[in-house]
Amino acid sequence: MDSKTVIEIVKDVFKMFYGNKYDELIDKRMMNLVDIIFYNNHTTTNKLETIEDYLKEYDIKKYNLEIIEKKIPISKYVLETGQQGTMIYENDDELKMVIYFPKSTINQYNYDCILIHELLHVIDEHIIYQDNDVIISQGGFERMCIKGEKKLDRNFEFLNEIIHQRIAEEINEFMYDNNILLINTREEKEKSINEYKKDRCPVVEIFYDKYKDILFSDKLNGNIEDFIKYVGEDYFIKFNEWINHFYNSYPTPTDRLENSNSEEYKKMINDGIDIINNMNDTKNSQFSH
Ligand SMILES: [Zn+2]
Repeated sequence: MDSKTVIEIVKDVFKMFYGNKYDELIDKRMMNLVDIIFYNNHTTTNKLETIEDYLKEYDIKKYNLEIIEKKIPISKYVLETGQQGTMIYENDDELKMVIYFPKSTINQYNYDCILIHELLHVIDEHIIYQDNDVIISQGGFERMCIKGEKKLDRNFEFLNEIIHQRIAEEINEFMYDNNILLINTREEKEKSINEYKKDRCPVVEIFYDKYKDILFSDKLNGNIEDFIKYVGEDYFIKFNEWINHFYNSYPTPTDRLENSNSEEYKKMINDGIDIINNMNDTKNSQFSH
């Protein structure tokens, strides 16, 4: 399946998933995506120096001129580590994105979900500040300077990724339920869904169920300050710290599975659940939404 077909299918899926009222926003934001560049990932002992070396080694056939002329960015790190990567950049003061995607991965059956995850970044990302020297873009809870230099104070990068991945998994299930496939077969998709389900963090699940609807709209619209005030800023910061602590303590799915019965793990989960339970709900929040 070629990149443009993947993009068109996922765009339609996003519209179905989020509902009609987001059609325009989704169309507009998807225009910022230049393309998905699939590359032939592999380990190599060849010495790569120039951009041309990288294009040749990883079999990148599209946009070579633009990449060489630095109109489209390339990440040597992404290629060398065989990862997927969404590059967010500025071109003529406009927000642009390009996705590098490896042709083969270890868990090939997760391919569709990983693609959805990357494309979901595209519909979140939008410019929130722009003057002659500085452009700041926001995607979910994360902000970045795509032109000039300005210090940004908040750091919710990891929390943002966790929530983002959770939504991507739900969209992946939505596609399965509607029999829409990208690159994976139905069997592969089923395997992928089951594997992701096994590794769900109870604290994230409670947070997600409690705030899903408002989270969807605030994340897309970039009303992040509103969302943080809505749940309570102190609790949100505590939740952010908890997430970082939990995934630092148990970094891999195996770590989490093997420790899930230990006292330490259970205590950590209960502490996390307490934070979510203490977050404001609609009843006692002074903010109407
Ligand atoms: Zn991501």
